[in-house]
Amino acid sequence: MQTNILEYLENTVKRVPEKTAFADENQQLSFEGLEDTAKRIGTAIASERIYKKPVIVFMKKSPALLAAFFGVVYGGCFYVPIDEEMPESRIGLIIQSTKAEYLICDNTTIEKVQNLNFSGIIVLYEKCIEHNIDDVKLDKIRKDSLDIDPVYVFYTSGSTGVPKGVTGCHRGIIDYIEHLSEALQFDEDCVFANQTPMYWDASMKEIYATLKHGATTYIVPKNLFMLPVKLIEYLNRYRINTICWVVSALTMISAYKTFDIIKPKYLRLVAFCGEVFPVKQFNIWKRELPKVEFYNLYGPTETTGVSTFYHADRIFADDEIIPIGKAFPNTQIILLNEDMREVRENETGEICIRGSCVTMGYYGDFEKTNIAFVQNPTSPEYRDIIYRTGDIARKDKDGNLIFIDRKDNQIKHMGHRIELGEIEADVLAVDGVNICCCIYVKENNKIVLFYTGDIEKGKLTKELKKKLPRYMLPNAMIKMDTIPVTQNGKRDRRKLYSSYMMNMENTI
Ligand code: AMP
Repeated sequence: MQTNILEYLENTVKRVPEKTAFADENQQLSFEGLEDTAKRIGTAIASERIYKKPVIVFMKKSPALLAAFFGVVYGGCFYVPIDEEMPESRIGLIIQSTKAEYLICDNTTIEKVQNLNFSGIIVLYEKCIEHNIDDVKLDKIRKDSLDIDPVYVFYTSGSTGVPKGVTGCHRGIIDYIEHLSEALQFDEDCVFANQTPMYWDASMKEIYATLKHGATTYIVPKNLFMLPVKLIEYLNRYRINTICWVVSALTMISAYKTFDIIKPKYLRLVAFCGEVFPVKQFNIWKRELPKVEFYNLYGPTETTGVSTFYHADRIFADDEIIPIGKAFPNTQIILLNEDMREVRENETGEICIRGSCVTMGYYGDFEKTNIAFVQNPTSPEYRDIIYRTGDIARKDKDGNLIFIDRKDNQIKHMGHRIELGEIEADVLAVDGVNICCCIYVKENNKIVLFYTGDIEKGKLTKELKKKLPRYMLPNAMIKMDTIPVTQNGKRDRRKLYSSYMMNMENTI
């Protein structure tokens, strides 16, 4: 039985050593090259006697970055990726939280690193890979490793302003990649185009699927995600057939009518994740690319990656929501109400996730861990941990989960209980709306709607009056050129809220 993620790489090296594993505009790494480089890095770490410790990897996004990740694992440690674009203060918080003693950087980040208050060992990637491989050391590390040892710590934003380090282990990744591969039928012929940042769990889909199957991943230059035509040209140039992207990257293409100019010629699978795909935008993809298979993937970082999937194999009506589907094998979804009881049929409840995919919690923070990772109330007699996602869902008549909203976007307005997601779904169903986002401004008890599209406010209000009870109608509507998104590509509610508040102040 496989117990270590590096077995994916080693088995693939035996089959297709010279095939390209990861590539970008400047560099290509074959599987053999990747293994060799990673082992050198692993030896460098081991020779410093750093073992079972976090190692900060602060490098630009590239194939070399991935070699550093796996090198850390060869060294018996776990990687903590830091993005080049992270503000210094956030990097400081992460370093503080990990108490790491070893940091790998490259020529592009070394200057920033020197300004950080890091007291441990700092090594340049370029130097690290000059180390000779010590097989005896690496074999000993492997012999002592367990599948419950951590592989990474991914920092996600915390509601209190301090990032939370989600700690994932070998078992969780293996469980995830096995089931994802089976459901989406990944194989050696997959040519992935990576969009999501490497410090985010979403990128594990292509990274680990590439290792397992001997596939290839191209790392797409970030600026192309603002140039839809050039982006599709890129997909065609590298014969990309599989993409696992966040919804906003896909809507950027469809909303700008890119398919009227150019189409991806080789694409056969599109998996989308991170948030609800607006049906009208999804339907453009589905109509324009009828031979492509589409999958909706759902899951939080805290359960390693994706926990449910849905094969979106049809056009959806404007007022429908694309389901997030059913749990992967070996994963259970329990919908719990506020009293921590399982909901009845047709009722909505909080998605709670159970299985080997549940991660080890937040690094160095048992208090926060114990709030979100709790005892399964349906089996109180023995230790059985579930992760409370804060996401609200219900099941449709076929047993597919329908994502409703975040628990924290439920509001009370004029005494009525309202899910902002419900208003958004109705707005999106109106002709002339592309993307939208609703926030609730407690300061003046207003539901504020931001949207992009051709339709004017008056006409939109008229359409909404047809669908929504009076108390659910937005109190203010703001037409935008674009909706701002977070670093992870999700609609940035916080930014919308601050800009709204700032405008209000200016008009007082
Ligand atoms: P992250 O941990 O950054 O991956 O974010 C996880 C959260 O994103 C989930 O708890 C959901 O709120 C949201 N999310 C992820 N996938 C989907 C999806 N397919 N549909 C709707 N929301 C999603």
